[in-house]
Amino acid sequence: MTSIEKSARKEDMRNMATIRESVDLFEDEVIVREYWAIDKQYVPILSPGAEGRIAITNRRVISRSELKVDGGKRVELNAVPLEAVQGTCLTVGNRTLWRLLMPGVIAVIAGIRLLEFGGWPSAVLFIAGVIAIICAFRREIRVGVRAASIVRGGFISKAEPEGYLLLAQSGLSALRTHGPDVEVLMRALDAVIVAAQQRGAAIVNDLKCPNVECGYMTMIDDQPPKHCPECGEAWRAK
Ligand SMILES: [Zn+2]
Repeated sequence: MTSIEKSARKEDMRNMATIRESVDLFEDEVIVREYWAIDKQYVPILSPGAEGRIAITNRRVISRSELKVDGGKRVELNAVPLEAVQGTCLTVGNRTLWRLLMPGVIAVIAGIRLLEFGGWPSAVLFIAGVIAIICAFRREIRVGVRAASIVRGGFISKAEPEGYLLLAQSGLSALRTHGPDVEVLMRALDAVIVAAQQRGAAIVNDLKCPNVECGYMTMIDDQPPKHCPECGEAWRAK
């Protein structure tokens, strides 16, 4: 991704906070990669808006989702220690709700049949059927990890590996639900977590600009640039 694309994306973030901006990290903690997984369109009354991000640091997997509903918002934060993560589970795609689609089709057909008798009941039936058909096609995304038991403040979760759902959203397939990083998330999440587990803080040295005074970091699943886009330092082949 070029720096122009990156800045265009930044402008498109519509003021919702990234994990980097909204979560305090440990002193020796660095974000290795942050993904923008959910970008659900807000349509008043029809569809609550949502933005969901997941970050892998050298210590944790952190997710943050922000739900925008009529009249307010809700923020949810989840974190799983990196050493406890044993795998990932992702679902991305489309789903058809037959229990909505079938009655919708029947209502549309009945509405058309009743049309010859005129009157508003046929119109209401027809419109309700069309709405049901539109709502029957959904897009959904679910991102989770399987983790070993987590000990925290004396409370111990179940001993067996457990599925932690970090992010989940579904919405009308006619509207936007998936964030811009969904494809790369599907491809790379597991590999990025394993790399961060195996190499810990050392991974950061490979991603940092060679200029010690520059704070720029490349992304783990991107090719390193030839030159740093911030300070212009030549990137050594590592
Ligand atoms: Zn630099």
